[in-house]
Amino acid sequence: MSQSEIKCPNCGKWSKWTNRIDETCPHCGAYLDPGRFMYAEEQKGIKERARTTGFLVIKKDDDPVIRLLKEIGSWIRWTTFYGISVIYIIIAVMVILYGLVML
Ligand SMILES: [Zn+2]
Repeated sequence: MSQSEIKCPNCGKWSKWTNRIDETCPHCGAYLDPGRFMYAEEQKGIKERARTTGFLVIKKDDDPVIRLLKEIGSWIRWTTFYGISVIYIIIAVMVILYGLVML
């Protein structure tokens, strides 16, 4: 693996670049690749948020009753979602059939 040099975007001095996302400048301490670092941080944040605020996320340390309630909750949620879709399809089919009968 070859080491390359990178110009610091903050102070303009050259330093060794080990290709790490969180590499900082030895001269001024700024991130050498702020764009990539921000992106990585953002992705981490999104994952973290999904884990903590996600709907009815079952965690390993939940007790069995909570876990069961969460499972029922997400089951009801999905059934409702699909149930509504089915009702719409039925209505659409009935409208079409009604139209055909009227012809
Ligand atoms: Zn610098």
